[in-house]
Amino acid sequence: MNNSYHFLKKMTIVSLVFAGLSAASLCFAASLPVDDTPMKEGMLRKLTEKTDMTEEVSNRDADRNGYLTIPLPDGIGEENVLVTTDDSEQKIKIAISDVPVYFYHRNFLSGDMKNIQNIRYGYENQVAKIELDTNGIFEPDTVFENGNLYFGLKEIQDVYKMVAAVDTGHGGSEEGSVAYGITEREISERCAGKLAEEFEKQGIKTYFTHSSDVNADIPTRIQAAESVSADVIISIHTNADSRTRVTHGIQVVSQEENNEKAAEMAGKLAEALDLSLAPVDEDNVTPEIVSASSCPVYFIRLGYITNKAEAEKMASEEFAEKAAETITASLLETDTATASGNKTKSDKGTEK
Ligand SMILES: [Zn+2]
Repeated sequence: MNNSYHFLKKMTIVSLVFAGLSAASLCFAASLPVDDTPMKEGMLRKLTEKTDMTEEVSNRDADRNGYLTIPLPDGIGEENVLVTTDDSEQKIKIAISDVPVYFYHRNFLSGDMKNIQNIRYGYENQVAKIELDTNGIFEPDTVFENGNLYFGLKEIQDVYKMVAAVDTGHGGSEEGSVAYGITEREISERCAGKLAEEFEKQGIKTYFTHSSDVNADIPTRIQAAESVSADVIISIHTNADSRTRVTHGIQVVSQEENNEKAAEMAGKLAEALDLSLAPVDEDNVTPEIVSASSCPVYFIRLGYITNKAEAEKMASEEFAEKAAETITASLLETDTATASGNKTKSDKGTEK
């Protein structure tokens, strides 16, 4: 199994087609190191509801401003708590191991419920599961103090420099262009995986616009990026041409207002990857994801898969790594206007 595929599985993937897919467990649950036995409906109970089990056995220290207070049994701490986020569903799951049964029927949650719409509780195999429905996408913030878990929600844009949606070319049974036994899809996914790693390293929150096993249509991909308020979409493809020997080189396409940045990125990639710049073809049609998205898109055609030397080059791990590093550096250097907290969609051009 190749690395990028493995990485794709581990990443949180945004996709609207997700819900009905058995693949969903591949993508989301893979980030859960514990067994993710689903909560049984009958065990779910809103924590605010009192029941005949109600007997407050502990009255812990005060709430913390801006945090939800989750009391913990004695001896239970950070190592027992696993928090996972499901951004596409706007849910956060908190699993706490070694909790006595009905603990949360006697020890209530309190504190700040801002941005939390609903809380559900389940218990299975000595693991208490608390599920929060949030009214947006947040980064969990946990503080362990006074025998409590203080649970806060940080705005994504306050935690990360930028939010990026990585769009891999094709997917599902659709491989894109194929030449010399190499597929566009495998090149795209390898690069996307490396790009996501590099983005996360550099403090860019990363989502994929679709999972590896579906070839989502363009509106779905754009909607996935919009649902996480992405600052930028990076779409990765390869090029193809019937003149296999002569046509080669890299190309970056973006919306007109980003042309300068796109050219800069292409130049940097050509240099780092030792590629030429692809000839600009008169009848090149702007890719749909570029023309249809209001969020900046950098549509990168890494090279010509129909050119043998380029195809072989693009298929290497080293190529993917270099491409990822260069795209990231280029984006961080040149794309300050789209950095989070500075979304000036309506007043483009005011920044110099
Ligand atoms: Zn493509």
